[in-house]
Formats: sequence, structure tokens, C-alpha cells
Amino acid sequence: MNRLSDIGTIKDILKRHGFTFSKALGQNFLVNPSVCPRMAEYSGAGAGVGVIEIGPGIGVLTNELCQLADKVVAVELDKRLLPVLEETLAEYDNCKIVNADVLELDLNRLIAEEFAGSEVVVCANLPYYITSPVIMKLLEDRLPVKAITVMVQKEAAQRICAPVGSRMSGAVTVAVNYYARPEMLFGVSAGSFMPAPKVDSAVMRLNVLEEPPVSADREAFFTVVRAAFSQRRKVIANSLSAGLGVSKGEVLALLEKAGVPQNARAEALSLEDFSAIADAWRERT
Ligand code: SAM
Repeated sequence: MNRLSDIGTIKDILKRHGFTFSKALGQNFLVNPSVCPRMAEYSGAGAGVGVIEIGPGIGVLTNELCQLADKVVAVELDKRLLPVLEETLAEYDNCKIVNADVLELDLNRLIAEEFAGSEVVVCANLPYYITSPVIMKLLEDRLPVKAITVMVQKEAAQRICAPVGSRMSGAVTVAVNYYARPEMLFGVSAGSFMPAPKVDSAVMRLNVLEEPPVSADREAFFTVVRAAFSQRRKVIANSLSAGLGVSKGEVLALLEKAGVPQNARAEALSLEDFSAIADAWRERT
């Protein structure tokens, strides 16, 4: 068993290093021994595969990933964790820690420099205060990665993994589905962390697509999606008019061209509907 998921070991390590948790950095460390091996297994880490981890903490998931993958590069913002990681990952020579803010990092460059030629996956227990920005960065940067397996707040995972066109879907559901096929893997209770957060979590995998599933111009597609969800409760004709800053008459013409009913709501539309509206919008501009 991974000794780093043993609560006594963790407390001892943290005490020796005088470490105190930072709420601002979303530091809730996993103490449930069954979670990391499952996450690492689902992530696709294995022979010939390189892994990027975000926020290794004291290295509990890193430890599992290093046992499976050719190489692991873990990006940790908190400098105070560097001496801890040096100790907890001392036995692995296939691990590199990068002290940086993942949102500021050029990940395409990191992949080219660290993983040239191998398949790459991302695996992380994400700091929840930056869940959406990190996920969107990983997707929008068009990284050459096969899959992104992440633990996030349960509600965030449910929204992202909801079918596009269902009541639970939102702008983030459509945005993620433009780049990947999301898959809910398993739930993780709040008690699996130290300190325990107020909410439950879930692990999901985003299976990255080689090509977007629809043909619309990317910028026009995202302009339309943002506008459509800008006023969730309104019918699409009104939310698009407000979000795109054009008259209702113009929006009705766009919707007719796209074959989308004017009284539909954004959450009921398919990727193809958004794509057709984006085509009509692009032709107009
Ligand atoms: N992987 C560990 C685990 O499962 O126990 C820790 C996960 S903890 C939820 C999130 C980690 O992300 C913390 O170690 C925190 O310091 C780190 N972190 C927070 N913001 C970050 C950022 N912008 N870039 C990189 N790491 C960050």
C-alpha cells in the first residue's frame, strides 16, 4: 500500500516539515488509500506513456503514477512542498517537479521538452478554486494529450459530464464536448481528504478528440455558446440578442437559417445546433 495515503505518515511528514495547509491554494490532501491507484489506472499511465500531474501536494498520486508511467512531470505552485516532495518521491528517478503556476505555464513547450515522442496524459486532483480555468486551458491549448483524468467537485463533474442538450448541461458542458468526450468515473467522499472539504468530489476522464465534432469556425462557435448561455432562463432568441448585441429581428433570421426554434433554451440545443448558428453568425459578420 502507498504509505503516503496513511494518515499517520502524512501527519508525521507535515509536522517534520512544519507544513500548514493553505486554503487559498485549495490544499485538501487525499488520505483514502483506494483513490490514487484507481485514478492512476484510469489515467492511461503505463509503459511508453508520459504523465503531467497538476498539484502533487505531498506526492500521494505522483507516487502511483511513477510506478506505472515512463516519466511524470508534476507542476506544483507551493514552494513549501518542494522539500516534502524531494523526500516522498526520493525513490523515483522518472519524476520531475516543476515549481510553477499551471495557468502561467507553456504546456505545449513542456511536452515538447519533456516527453518528445511518447504518448502523454494528464492526471490530477485539481485545486478546486481554478477547476474550470485549468480544464479549459488544457483543452484550448490543443495539447497533444490523449486523456485528462481529473478529480473535481462532484457538481462540476456532473455538469461537465451531462449530455449536451440535457437540463444539467451548461456552457462548460458544450465547451468541453467541443474538444473531448467526457466520462464520469467514480465518486469520492469529502471524508477522503485532509482537511475534509464541505463538498464531495468525483473523478472524470476527458477523452481528447483529434478533431472537433462539428465544423463551425471555433471563434464563432464559442461566441455563440457564450451568448446563448449568458441568460440561462431566457429563450435562445432573447439570450442571443443580448449576448451578441444585435436586434431580435436579426437573431430570428439567424435562427431560421440555422433551423433552430426561436423559443428553445440554450441547454436544449445540440452541438450541431450551436454549429449551425455559428455558421449563420459568421456569414453575417
Ligand atoms: N495531489 C495531492 C493530493 O491528491 O493529495 C494534492 C491535491 S490539492 C487538492 C491541490 C494541489 O494543487 C495543492 O498541492 C496546491 O498547492 C496545488 N496548486 C494550487 N494552485 C496551483 C496552481 N495554480 N498551479 C499548480 N499547483 C497548484
